[in-house]
Amino acid sequence: MNNSPTFMNNTKPEGMSLPDWVQQHLEIAEQSAHLNAFVHLFKDEALAAAQNIEKAIAHGKKPGKLYGVIISVKDNICIADRPVSAASAILKGYVSPFSATAVERLVAEDAIIIGTTNCDEFGMGSASTHTIYGAVRNADDADKVAGGSSGGAAVSVQIGACHLAIGTDTGGSIRQPAAFCGLAGFKPGYGKISRHGLIAYASSFDQLGFIARDTSLIRLAYDICRGTDEFDSTVSSAAEAAEIPVSTARLATLSDFFPASNVFTQQCFRLIHELGKHFNLTTTSFNGMDYLVPTYYILTTAESSSNLSRYDGVRYGLRVGEEGSLDTMYTQTRTRGFGAEVEKRIMLGTFVLSEGYYDAYYTKAQKVRRWVRNQLETLFQESDFVLLPVTASGPWPIDYKSNDPLEVYYSDVYTVLASLAGLPAISIPVDFENEKVHLQIIGKPNNEHNLLAISEKIISLSLK
Ligand code: GLN
Repeated sequence: MNNSPTFMNNTKPEGMSLPDWVQQHLEIAEQSAHLNAFVHLFKDEALAAAQNIEKAIAHGKKPGKLYGVIISVKDNICIADRPVSAASAILKGYVSPFSATAVERLVAEDAIIIGTTNCDEFGMGSASTHTIYGAVRNADDADKVAGGSSGGAAVSVQIGACHLAIGTDTGGSIRQPAAFCGLAGFKPGYGKISRHGLIAYASSFDQLGFIARDTSLIRLAYDICRGTDEFDSTVSSAAEAAEIPVSTARLATLSDFFPASNVFTQQCFRLIHELGKHFNLTTTSFNGMDYLVPTYYILTTAESSSNLSRYDGVRYGLRVGEEGSLDTMYTQTRTRGFGAEVEKRIMLGTFVLSEGYYDAYYTKAQKVRRWVRNQLETLFQESDFVLLPVTASGPWPIDYKSNDPLEVYYSDVYTVLASLAGLPAISIPVDFENEKVHLQIIGKPNNEHNLLAISEKIISLSLK
């Protein structure tokens, strides 16, 4: 069981100095080092930042909206003058010359970054075990995984070292670890928060998002980070949609996602039906579940094979075999620098983009993606939110090795739906049947505020 210290209060006690508050959180992080949640702790820098904020306030500056909020940043998001490696050997030791836009916006509101968090290499994985820093362990049971790829982000909040973790979600990497660690995890719709300063995995899916205990902190962080950015032309300037009154919200669920044989998802099904007593709920079928995971993996491996071609030993990080020919240097650098999972995905992606197979795989997957979006668009004409499980199981043992190489990929089936459609989605813990049951809610485009509002309403209900 968890014997790590926890500090669950978001509010700095009256009279405590900001450096002391930061120090307390750093100590919690240090005492939980065995969980491998953090890659680097920026002790001196965090304390210096706290002192500077206090000084500025003493000179009349108004405290920022995130004054007193301690945050962690996933190791695939850049912070100026700090190392960032995407948990890979190829980028180990690389120091970023600039900060991600979202990081800048949070820091400008007085958030204090205490460290960077461990994850799957380049965000590729579902358990935070594909990392050069050692697998992330779940604080509720250190023999279990914390989920992935933002596993360290989730644990940084789970142990109480941080109030808010910034992560990335390409196909579930915020929602799934949040669920495995008993927290809320929110991925805004595609293009709502700038990707400037994110180390790309699959650019048409990647989104920055947040993990916290508390959805109100997520809402605050989202409002601070969202909006156009001169460094990312894909950020939409669309305003938030009109308010949907929670009392008349129309919920839908998809029957195909609840196999009768799975007791875990059956509990989520009972929860959703209980919610049907409080809201208008319809159950419909999706008829395309089998296509989701293959489509997601074809498109994301294709995009990653292109994105990761920049790591060649010339421009960033590791360089091996310099004394040989250029080809030798490329080959040796990439062989030494990439882990097995990343190599597998680069090869798969290169295959689906190759001349002979492009139409059979890549083009077809693009069409399926469009079809999935259209299906959801139709569904959203009759409903405001779609409710699903987050996962088909709880966290698995850290040393679990499957004989089926696709098993872990298929575990992403619940989260990739929103990612294929670029829709906002959240995973929240709901008290039900004397347990914390994790529920995923998907919203319509530009409905992030409405999604957070319905989440808060559902969390506040007392269900049996
Ligand atoms: N588990 C999924 C994958 O491995 C999702 C990862 C993510 O969202 N970064 O691709």
